[in-house]
Amino acid sequence: MNHLRDIPSVDALLQHPRADDLQKRFGRSLLLSGVRSVLEDTRIQLVQSPDKVSLDVEFLLEQVETVLVRWVAPSLVPVINATGVILHTNLGRAPLSPQAIRAINETASGYCTLEYDLTRGGRGSRSVHAEMLLQRLTGAEAALVVNNNAAAVLLVLTALARRRGVLISRTQLVEIGGGFRVPEVMAQSGAKLIEVGTTNRVRLEDYEDALHSHPVSLVLRAHHSNFRIIGFTTEPSLKELVELAHRHNLPLMDDLGSGALLDTARFGLAHEPMVQESLAAGADVVCFSGDKLLGGPQAGIILGRKEWLARIKKHPLARAVRPDKLTLAALSATLIHYLKGEAEQTIPVWRMIAQTPECLRERALAWQTALGSGEVLASLSTVGGGSLPEETLPTYVLALTVQKPNAFLAALRKCTPPVIARIEEERVMLDPRTVLPEQDSLLLHHLSNLLQNQKRKEATS
Ligand SMILES: *Cc1c(COP(=O)(O)O)cnc(C)c1O
Repeated sequence: MNHLRDIPSVDALLQHPRADDLQKRFGRSLLLSGVRSVLEDTRIQLVQSPDKVSLDVEFLLEQVETVLVRWVAPSLVPVINATGVILHTNLGRAPLSPQAIRAINETASGYCTLEYDLTRGGRGSRSVHAEMLLQRLTGAEAALVVNNNAAAVLLVLTALARRRGVLISRTQLVEIGGGFRVPEVMAQSGAKLIEVGTTNRVRLEDYEDALHSHPVSLVLRAHHSNFRIIGFTTEPSLKELVELAHRHNLPLMDDLGSGALLDTARFGLAHEPMVQESLAAGADVVCFSGDKLLGGPQAGIILGRKEWLARIKKHPLARAVRPDKLTLAALSATLIHYLKGEAEQTIPVWRMIAQTPECLRERALAWQTALGSGEVLASLSTVGGGSLPEETLPTYVLALTVQKPNAFLAALRKCTPPVIARIEEERVMLDPRTVLPEQDSLLLHHLSNLLQNQKRKEATS
Protein backbone atom coordinates (compact mmCIF):
# COMPACT_ATOMS: atom_id res chain seq x y z
CA MET A 1 0.00 0.00 0.00
CA ASN A 2 1.28 3.45 -1.02
CA HIS A 3 1.61 6.35 1.38
CA LEU A 4 1.77 10.05 0.66
CA ARG A 5 5.37 10.06 1.85
CA ASP A 6 6.24 7.55 -0.90
CA ILE A 7 5.42 9.99 -3.68
CA PRO A 8 8.67 10.89 -5.46
CA SER A 9 9.91 14.45 -5.03
CA VAL A 10 9.90 17.07 -7.80
CA ASP A 11 13.69 16.72 -7.91
CA ALA A 12 13.53 12.96 -8.28
CA LEU A 13 11.52 13.43 -11.45
CA LEU A 14 13.64 16.31 -12.76
CA GLN A 15 16.88 14.38 -12.24
CA HIS A 16 15.71 11.33 -14.16
CA PRO A 17 17.41 11.10 -17.60
CA ARG A 18 14.04 11.22 -19.39
CA ALA A 19 13.43 14.68 -17.96
CA ASP A 20 16.33 16.07 -20.04
CA ASP A 21 14.46 15.32 -23.23
CA LEU A 22 11.29 16.89 -21.87
CA GLN A 23 13.21 20.00 -20.84
CA LYS A 24 14.64 20.34 -24.36
CA ARG A 25 11.18 20.02 -25.90
CA PHE A 26 9.15 22.16 -23.51
CA GLY A 27 11.56 24.35 -21.54
CA ARG A 28 12.50 24.21 -17.88
CA SER A 29 9.68 26.31 -16.50
CA LEU A 30 6.86 24.46 -18.28
CA LEU A 31 8.42 21.10 -17.36
CA LEU A 32 8.44 22.15 -13.71
CA SER A 33 4.77 23.11 -13.88
CA GLY A 34 3.99 19.79 -15.58
CA VAL A 35 5.81 17.81 -12.91
CA ARG A 36 4.03 19.70 -10.11
CA SER A 37 0.67 19.19 -11.77
CA VAL A 38 1.17 15.42 -12.19
CA LEU A 39 2.45 15.02 -8.61
CA GLU A 40 -0.53 16.97 -7.31
CA ASP A 41 -2.94 14.72 -9.26
CA THR A 42 -1.08 11.66 -7.96
CA ARG A 43 -1.50 12.93 -4.38
CA ILE A 44 -5.25 13.31 -4.88
CA GLN A 45 -5.59 9.85 -6.47
CA LEU A 46 -3.52 8.30 -3.72
CA VAL A 47 -5.82 9.64 -1.04
CA GLN A 48 -8.85 8.29 -2.90
CA SER A 49 -7.48 4.84 -3.81
CA PRO A 50 -4.02 4.11 -2.38
CA ASP A 51 -3.70 0.75 -4.13
CA LYS A 52 -4.36 1.83 -7.67
CA VAL A 53 -1.69 4.49 -8.04
CA SER A 54 1.71 3.86 -9.56
CA LEU A 55 4.56 5.91 -8.08
CA ASP A 56 7.14 4.71 -10.58
CA VAL A 57 9.20 7.68 -11.75
CA GLU A 58 9.22 6.62 -15.41
CA PHE A 59 5.48 6.19 -15.37
CA LEU A 60 5.00 9.61 -13.78
CA LEU A 61 7.26 11.25 -16.38
CA GLU A 62 5.16 9.69 -19.12
CA GLN A 63 2.17 11.40 -17.60
CA VAL A 64 4.12 14.65 -17.46
CA GLU A 65 4.80 14.30 -21.17
CA THR A 66 1.11 13.76 -21.91
CA VAL A 67 0.22 16.86 -19.90
CA LEU A 68 2.89 18.98 -21.60
CA VAL A 69 1.89 17.87 -25.09
CA ARG A 70 -1.69 18.85 -24.26
CA TRP A 71 -0.64 22.23 -22.84
CA VAL A 72 1.25 23.30 -25.94
CA ALA A 73 -1.26 21.94 -28.45
CA PRO A 74 -2.94 24.91 -30.13
CA SER A 75 -6.71 24.98 -29.83
CA LEU A 76 -7.06 27.14 -32.93
CA VAL A 77 -6.42 24.59 -35.68
CA PRO A 78 -7.40 24.31 -39.34
CA VAL A 79 -10.42 22.13 -40.13
CA ILE A 80 -12.00 20.71 -43.26
CA ASN A 81 -15.42 22.30 -43.70
CA ALA A 82 -17.68 19.71 -45.33
CA THR A 83 -20.88 21.37 -44.08
CA GLY A 84 -21.66 23.28 -47.26
CA VAL A 85 -22.07 26.51 -45.27
CA ILE A 86 -19.70 28.89 -47.05
CA LEU A 87 -19.39 31.73 -44.52
CA HIS A 88 -19.49 29.45 -41.48
CA THR A 89 -19.08 31.86 -38.57
CA ASN A 90 -17.96 29.11 -36.18
CA LEU A 91 -15.35 27.93 -38.67
CA GLY A 92 -13.79 31.32 -39.30
CA ARG A 93 -15.98 32.64 -42.14
CA ALA A 94 -14.03 33.48 -45.31
CA PRO A 95 -10.91 31.49 -46.29
CA LEU A 96 -8.38 33.82 -47.93
CA SER A 97 -6.98 33.81 -51.46
CA PRO A 98 -3.38 32.65 -51.99
CA GLN A 99 -2.42 36.27 -52.75
CA ALA A 100 -3.93 37.47 -49.45
CA ILE A 101 -2.10 34.72 -47.59
CA ARG A 102 1.17 35.67 -49.27
CA ALA A 103 0.61 39.31 -48.33
CA ILE A 104 0.12 38.29 -44.68
CA ASN A 105 3.28 36.21 -44.75
CA GLU A 106 5.40 38.93 -46.28
CA THR A 107 4.07 41.59 -43.94
CA ALA A 108 4.35 39.43 -40.84
CA SER A 109 7.87 38.20 -41.36
CA GLY A 110 9.60 41.57 -41.38
CA TYR A 111 9.10 45.30 -41.21
CA CYS A 112 6.69 47.09 -43.51
CA THR A 113 5.38 50.54 -44.47
CA LEU A 114 2.44 50.32 -42.06
CA GLU A 115 2.85 53.95 -40.99
CA TYR A 116 5.80 54.99 -43.10
CA ASP A 117 5.82 57.24 -46.13
CA LEU A 118 8.57 56.07 -48.48
CA THR A 119 8.51 59.26 -50.55
CA ARG A 120 9.01 61.63 -47.66
CA GLY A 121 11.03 59.21 -45.59
CA GLY A 122 8.92 59.85 -42.52
CA ARG A 123 5.77 59.05 -40.65
CA GLY A 124 2.84 57.98 -42.80
CA SER A 125 -0.68 56.79 -42.08
CA ARG A 126 -1.90 53.22 -41.74
CA SER A 127 -5.26 54.22 -43.11
CA VAL A 128 -4.01 55.04 -46.62
CA HIS A 129 -3.35 51.45 -47.69
CA ALA A 130 -6.88 50.12 -48.01
CA GLU A 131 -8.44 53.56 -48.36
CA MET A 132 -7.07 54.22 -51.84
CA LEU A 133 -8.16 50.81 -53.06
CA LEU A 134 -11.63 51.20 -51.59
CA GLN A 135 -12.02 54.65 -53.15
CA ARG A 136 -10.98 53.38 -56.56
CA LEU A 137 -13.22 50.34 -56.29
CA THR A 138 -16.39 51.99 -55.03
CA GLY A 139 -16.01 55.66 -55.87
CA ALA A 140 -16.51 56.53 -52.20
CA GLU A 141 -15.01 59.87 -51.14
CA ALA A 142 -13.34 58.40 -48.07
CA ALA A 143 -12.84 55.11 -46.27
CA LEU A 144 -11.76 53.73 -42.92
CA VAL A 145 -10.97 50.15 -41.93
CA VAL A 146 -11.56 48.90 -38.37
CA ASN A 147 -11.43 45.51 -36.65
CA ASN A 148 -14.87 44.22 -37.57
CA ASN A 149 -18.25 45.52 -38.61
CA ALA A 150 -19.59 45.53 -35.06
CA ALA A 151 -16.78 47.96 -34.19
CA ALA A 152 -17.60 49.97 -37.32
CA VAL A 153 -21.24 50.40 -36.27
CA LEU A 154 -20.24 51.27 -32.71
CA LEU A 155 -17.64 53.78 -33.88
CA VAL A 156 -19.89 55.53 -36.39
CA LEU A 157 -22.77 55.84 -33.93
CA THR A 158 -20.45 57.06 -31.17
CA ALA A 159 -18.73 59.62 -33.40
CA LEU A 160 -21.86 60.96 -35.09
CA ALA A 161 -24.75 60.42 -32.71
CA ARG A 162 -23.57 60.21 -29.12
CA ARG A 163 -26.20 61.62 -26.73
CA ARG A 164 -28.43 62.32 -29.68
CA GLY A 165 -31.24 60.55 -31.44
CA VAL A 166 -30.91 57.91 -34.14
CA LEU A 167 -33.94 56.92 -36.18
CA ILE A 168 -34.29 53.26 -37.04
CA SER A 169 -37.19 51.19 -38.27
CA ARG A 170 -38.64 48.60 -35.88
CA THR A 171 -38.24 46.09 -38.73
CA GLN A 172 -34.47 46.43 -38.35
CA LEU A 173 -34.00 46.06 -34.60
CA VAL A 174 -32.48 42.63 -35.08
CA GLU A 175 -30.01 40.40 -33.30
CA ILE A 176 -27.38 39.33 -35.78
CA GLY A 177 -26.01 36.43 -33.75
CA GLY A 178 -23.15 36.17 -31.33
CA GLY A 179 -24.95 38.74 -29.18
CA PHE A 180 -24.80 41.61 -31.68
CA ARG A 181 -28.12 43.34 -31.11
CA VAL A 182 -28.68 46.61 -32.91
CA PRO A 183 -30.46 48.29 -29.94
CA GLU A 184 -27.69 47.23 -27.54
CA VAL A 185 -24.88 48.46 -29.77
CA MET A 186 -26.76 51.71 -30.03
CA ALA A 187 -27.03 51.93 -26.24
CA GLN A 188 -23.27 51.31 -25.95
CA SER A 189 -22.56 54.15 -28.35
CA GLY A 190 -24.58 56.52 -26.22
CA ALA A 191 -26.97 57.23 -29.09
CA LYS A 192 -30.67 57.43 -28.28
CA LEU A 193 -32.75 54.92 -30.13
CA ILE A 194 -35.87 56.30 -31.74
CA GLU A 195 -37.94 53.45 -33.10
CA VAL A 196 -40.09 54.02 -36.15
CA GLY A 197 -43.08 52.06 -37.46
CA THR A 198 -44.04 48.52 -36.51
CA THR A 199 -42.32 45.15 -36.66
CA ASN A 200 -43.59 44.41 -40.15
CA ARG A 201 -44.48 47.78 -41.64
CA VAL A 202 -42.87 51.17 -41.66
CA ARG A 203 -43.67 54.07 -43.96
CA LEU A 204 -41.85 57.24 -44.85
CA GLU A 205 -44.49 59.22 -42.93
CA ASP A 206 -43.52 57.33 -39.78
CA TYR A 207 -39.98 58.64 -40.20
CA GLU A 208 -41.29 62.17 -40.87
CA ASP A 209 -43.43 62.09 -37.74
CA ALA A 210 -40.52 60.91 -35.61
CA LEU A 211 -38.30 63.64 -37.06
CA HIS A 212 -40.80 66.29 -36.04
CA SER A 213 -41.18 65.05 -32.49
CA HIS A 214 -37.56 64.13 -31.57
CA PRO A 215 -34.12 65.72 -31.87
CA VAL A 216 -32.38 63.44 -34.37
CA SER A 217 -28.76 63.40 -35.55
CA LEU A 218 -28.69 60.38 -37.85
CA VAL A 219 -30.94 58.02 -39.77
CA LEU A 220 -29.79 54.40 -39.66
CA ARG A 221 -30.70 51.59 -41.97
CA ALA A 222 -29.52 48.15 -40.89
CA HIS A 223 -29.57 45.00 -42.96
CA HIS A 224 -31.96 42.41 -41.52
CA SER A 225 -29.06 39.98 -41.59
CA ASN A 226 -30.06 36.36 -40.98
CA PHE A 227 -33.72 37.22 -40.67
CA ARG A 228 -36.40 37.82 -43.24
CA ILE A 229 -39.75 39.48 -42.94
CA ILE A 230 -42.34 38.08 -45.28
CA GLY A 231 -46.02 38.70 -45.92
CA PHE A 232 -47.66 42.01 -45.03
CA THR A 233 -44.60 44.24 -45.01
CA THR A 234 -43.45 47.67 -46.18
CA GLU A 235 -40.20 49.52 -45.83
CA PRO A 236 -39.17 52.71 -47.64
CA SER A 237 -36.38 52.29 -50.17
CA LEU A 238 -32.89 53.40 -49.33
CA LYS A 239 -33.19 56.25 -51.82
CA GLU A 240 -36.34 57.53 -50.12
CA LEU A 241 -34.62 57.38 -46.74
CA VAL A 242 -31.59 59.24 -48.08
CA GLU A 243 -33.81 61.99 -49.49
CA LEU A 244 -35.66 62.25 -46.22
CA ALA A 245 -32.45 62.45 -44.18
CA HIS A 246 -30.95 65.06 -46.50
CA ARG A 247 -34.13 67.18 -46.41
CA HIS A 248 -33.51 67.41 -42.68
CA ASN A 249 -29.75 67.94 -43.08
CA LEU A 250 -29.00 64.60 -41.46
CA PRO A 251 -26.58 61.89 -42.54
CA LEU A 252 -27.89 58.45 -43.49
CA MET A 253 -25.90 55.46 -42.33
CA ASP A 254 -26.36 52.09 -44.01
CA ASP A 255 -25.15 49.01 -42.12
CA LEU A 256 -25.00 46.51 -44.97
CA GLY A 257 -23.71 43.58 -42.93
CA SER A 258 -22.26 41.45 -45.73
CA GLY A 259 -21.56 44.18 -48.19
CA ALA A 260 -21.36 42.39 -51.50
CA LEU A 261 -19.24 43.94 -54.25
CA LEU A 262 -20.43 41.36 -56.80
CA ASP A 263 -24.08 40.67 -57.61
CA THR A 264 -25.22 37.48 -55.88
CA ALA A 265 -28.16 37.26 -58.31
CA ARG A 266 -25.71 36.20 -61.01
CA PHE A 267 -25.29 32.93 -59.15
CA GLY A 268 -28.96 32.07 -58.80
CA LEU A 269 -29.23 33.63 -55.36
CA ALA A 270 -31.43 36.49 -54.24
CA HIS A 271 -29.89 39.91 -54.80
CA GLU A 272 -27.87 40.91 -51.76
CA PRO A 273 -27.71 44.71 -51.32
CA MET A 274 -24.42 45.90 -52.81
CA VAL A 275 -21.96 48.47 -51.56
CA GLN A 276 -22.01 50.31 -54.88
CA GLU A 277 -25.81 50.56 -54.81
CA SER A 278 -25.82 51.96 -51.33
CA LEU A 279 -23.32 54.66 -52.26
CA ALA A 280 -25.19 55.39 -55.50
CA ALA A 281 -28.41 55.82 -53.54
CA GLY A 282 -26.62 58.57 -51.63
CA ALA A 283 -25.93 56.91 -48.27
CA ASP A 284 -23.49 59.13 -46.36
CA VAL A 285 -21.85 56.37 -44.36
CA VAL A 286 -21.87 52.70 -45.41
CA CYS A 287 -20.37 49.91 -43.36
CA PHE A 288 -19.88 46.17 -43.86
CA SER A 289 -17.73 43.20 -42.86
CA GLY A 290 -14.42 42.22 -44.42
CA ASP A 291 -14.89 38.48 -43.90
CA LYS A 292 -18.41 37.93 -45.17
CA LEU A 293 -19.21 38.25 -48.88
CA LEU A 294 -16.13 40.40 -49.45
CA GLY A 295 -14.14 37.22 -48.84
CA GLY A 296 -11.27 38.88 -46.98
CA PRO A 297 -9.95 39.00 -43.42
CA GLN A 298 -12.03 39.97 -40.39
CA ALA A 299 -12.49 43.71 -40.67
CA GLY A 300 -15.10 46.42 -40.63
CA ILE A 301 -15.13 48.76 -43.60
CA ILE A 302 -16.58 52.25 -43.38
CA LEU A 303 -17.10 54.21 -46.60
CA GLY A 304 -18.74 57.49 -47.33
CA ARG A 305 -18.61 61.25 -47.47
CA LYS A 306 -15.40 62.96 -46.52
CA GLU A 307 -16.92 65.28 -43.91
CA TRP A 308 -18.49 62.43 -41.94
CA LEU A 309 -15.51 60.12 -42.30
CA ALA A 310 -13.25 62.91 -41.02
CA ARG A 311 -15.28 63.09 -37.81
CA ILE A 312 -15.27 59.31 -37.47
CA LYS A 313 -11.49 59.07 -38.02
CA LYS A 314 -10.84 61.75 -35.42
CA HIS A 315 -12.85 60.06 -32.67
CA PRO A 316 -10.67 58.48 -29.92
CA LEU A 317 -12.53 55.19 -30.29
CA ALA A 318 -11.12 54.88 -33.83
CA ARG A 319 -7.70 54.29 -32.32
CA ALA A 320 -9.07 51.51 -30.12
CA VAL A 321 -10.61 49.60 -33.03
CA ARG A 322 -7.90 50.12 -35.63
CA PRO A 323 -6.82 47.09 -37.66
CA ASP A 324 -3.36 45.50 -37.53
CA LYS A 325 -0.88 45.24 -40.39
CA LEU A 326 -1.84 41.63 -41.21
CA THR A 327 -5.48 42.55 -41.68
CA LEU A 328 -4.56 45.49 -43.88
CA ALA A 329 -2.22 43.33 -45.96
CA ALA A 330 -4.84 40.64 -46.54
CA LEU A 331 -7.63 43.15 -47.13
CA SER A 332 -5.58 45.07 -49.70
CA ALA A 333 -4.74 41.86 -51.58
CA THR A 334 -8.42 40.89 -51.55
CA LEU A 335 -9.54 44.29 -52.82
CA ILE A 336 -7.00 44.12 -55.63
CA HIS A 337 -8.75 40.97 -56.90
CA TYR A 338 -11.91 43.03 -57.33
CA LEU A 339 -10.03 45.88 -59.00
CA LYS A 340 -8.55 43.46 -61.53
CA GLY A 341 -11.94 41.87 -62.16
CA GLU A 342 -10.73 38.45 -61.06
CA ALA A 343 -12.60 38.14 -57.75
CA GLU A 344 -14.85 35.35 -58.97
CA GLN A 345 -11.86 33.21 -59.93
CA THR A 346 -9.50 33.99 -57.06
CA ILE A 347 -11.49 34.70 -53.89
CA PRO A 348 -12.44 31.37 -52.28
CA VAL A 349 -15.89 32.55 -51.15
CA TRP A 350 -16.88 33.55 -54.68
CA ARG A 351 -15.32 30.45 -56.18
CA MET A 352 -17.44 28.36 -53.84
CA ILE A 353 -20.58 30.33 -54.68
CA ALA A 354 -19.82 30.06 -58.40
CA GLN A 355 -19.27 26.28 -58.46
CA THR A 356 -21.82 24.61 -60.69
CA PRO A 357 -23.92 21.66 -59.50
CA GLU A 358 -22.38 19.56 -62.31
CA CYS A 359 -18.86 20.20 -61.03
CA LEU A 360 -19.92 19.44 -57.48
CA ARG A 361 -21.61 16.25 -58.59
CA GLU A 362 -18.42 15.14 -60.30
CA ARG A 363 -16.41 15.76 -57.16
CA ALA A 364 -18.89 13.89 -54.99
CA LEU A 365 -18.82 11.02 -57.50
CA ALA A 366 -15.01 10.99 -57.41
CA TRP A 367 -15.17 10.73 -53.61
CA GLN A 368 -17.66 7.89 -53.89
CA THR A 369 -15.44 6.04 -56.35
CA ALA A 370 -12.33 6.55 -54.22
CA LEU A 371 -14.08 5.27 -51.11
CA GLY A 372 -16.16 2.59 -52.78
CA SER A 373 -18.91 3.67 -50.47
CA GLY A 374 -21.79 6.11 -50.06
CA GLU A 375 -24.37 7.59 -52.32
CA VAL A 376 -24.29 10.87 -54.25
CA LEU A 377 -27.42 12.91 -53.58
CA ALA A 378 -28.77 16.29 -54.61
CA SER A 379 -28.73 18.66 -51.65
CA LEU A 380 -28.41 22.33 -50.71
CA SER A 381 -25.47 24.51 -49.64
CA THR A 382 -25.96 27.86 -47.93
CA VAL A 383 -24.04 31.11 -47.95
CA GLY A 384 -24.23 31.73 -44.19
CA GLY A 385 -22.61 34.63 -42.36
CA GLY A 386 -25.89 36.41 -41.83
CA SER A 387 -26.31 37.08 -45.53
CA LEU A 388 -29.07 35.80 -47.77
CA PRO A 389 -31.27 34.06 -45.17
CA GLU A 390 -33.05 30.96 -46.45
CA GLU A 391 -31.26 31.23 -49.77
CA THR A 392 -29.68 28.02 -50.96
CA LEU A 393 -27.38 26.83 -53.71
CA PRO A 394 -28.07 23.45 -55.35
CA THR A 395 -25.26 21.02 -54.66
CA TYR A 396 -24.44 17.31 -54.57
CA VAL A 397 -23.26 15.61 -51.41
CA LEU A 398 -21.73 12.28 -50.57
CA ALA A 399 -24.15 10.59 -48.16
CA LEU A 400 -22.66 7.87 -45.98
CA THR A 401 -24.86 5.36 -44.22
CA VAL A 402 -23.13 4.43 -40.98
CA GLN A 403 -24.31 2.64 -37.88
CA LYS A 404 -23.97 5.57 -35.50
CA PRO A 405 -23.91 8.86 -37.42
CA ASN A 406 -23.22 10.98 -34.33
CA ALA A 407 -20.28 8.79 -33.30
CA PHE A 408 -19.00 8.97 -36.89
CA LEU A 409 -19.16 12.79 -36.82
CA ALA A 410 -17.29 12.76 -33.51
CA ALA A 411 -14.60 10.49 -35.01
CA LEU A 412 -14.29 12.88 -37.98
CA ARG A 413 -13.74 15.74 -35.53
CA LYS A 414 -10.85 13.80 -33.97
CA CYS A 415 -8.95 13.56 -37.26
CA THR A 416 -6.00 15.83 -38.14
CA PRO A 417 -7.20 18.13 -39.54
CA PRO A 418 -10.66 17.64 -38.03
CA VAL A 419 -13.50 17.22 -40.51
CA ILE A 420 -16.80 18.98 -39.82
CA ALA A 421 -19.82 17.41 -41.52
CA ARG A 422 -23.57 17.25 -40.93
CA ILE A 423 -26.26 14.64 -40.46
CA GLU A 424 -29.44 14.54 -42.48
CA GLU A 425 -32.00 11.78 -42.24
CA GLU A 426 -29.62 9.58 -40.24
CA ARG A 427 -26.88 9.87 -42.84
CA VAL A 428 -23.55 11.64 -42.75
CA MET A 429 -23.50 14.29 -45.48
CA LEU A 430 -20.31 15.72 -46.97
CA ASP A 431 -20.67 18.74 -49.25
CA PRO A 432 -17.74 19.26 -51.66
CA ARG A 433 -18.63 22.94 -52.16
CA THR A 434 -16.82 24.08 -49.01
CA VAL A 435 -13.99 21.52 -49.08
CA LEU A 436 -10.93 23.19 -50.61
CA PRO A 437 -9.71 21.08 -53.55
CA GLU A 438 -6.27 20.61 -51.94
CA GLN A 439 -8.01 19.03 -48.92
CA ASP A 440 -9.64 16.26 -50.96
CA SER A 441 -6.93 13.66 -50.46
CA LEU A 442 -6.74 14.18 -46.69
CA LEU A 443 -10.50 14.04 -46.40
CA LEU A 444 -10.64 10.80 -48.36
CA HIS A 445 -7.81 9.35 -46.28
CA HIS A 446 -9.72 10.03 -43.03
CA LEU A 447 -13.01 8.80 -44.43
CA SER A 448 -11.55 5.59 -45.75
CA ASN A 449 -9.86 4.85 -42.41
CA LEU A 450 -13.04 5.46 -40.47
CA LEU A 451 -15.14 3.39 -42.86
CA GLN A 452 -12.67 0.52 -42.59
CA ASN A 453 -12.75 0.69 -38.79
CA GLN A 454 -16.48 0.58 -39.00
CA LYS A 455 -16.40 -2.55 -41.23
CA ARG A 456 -13.98 -4.21 -38.85
CA LYS A 457 -16.27 -3.51 -35.91
CA GLU A 458 -19.25 -4.86 -37.81
CA ALA A 459 -17.32 -8.02 -38.64
CA THR A 460 -16.34 -8.68 -35.03
CA SER A 461 -19.72 -7.90 -33.51
C1 LIG B 1 -22.55 40.50 -39.45
C2 LIG B 1 -23.16 41.83 -39.23
C3 LIG B 1 -22.60 42.76 -38.34
C4 LIG B 1 -21.37 42.42 -37.54
O1 LIG B 1 -20.27 42.31 -38.35
P1 LIG B 1 -18.92 41.60 -37.80
O2 LIG B 1 -17.93 41.83 -38.89
O3 LIG B 1 -19.26 40.17 -37.56
O4 LIG B 1 -18.55 42.31 -36.54
C5 LIG B 1 -23.21 43.98 -38.18
N1 LIG B 1 -24.35 44.29 -38.87
C6 LIG B 1 -24.93 43.44 -39.74
C7 LIG B 1 -26.19 43.83 -40.45
C8 LIG B 1 -24.36 42.17 -39.95
O5 LIG B 1 -24.94 41.30 -40.79
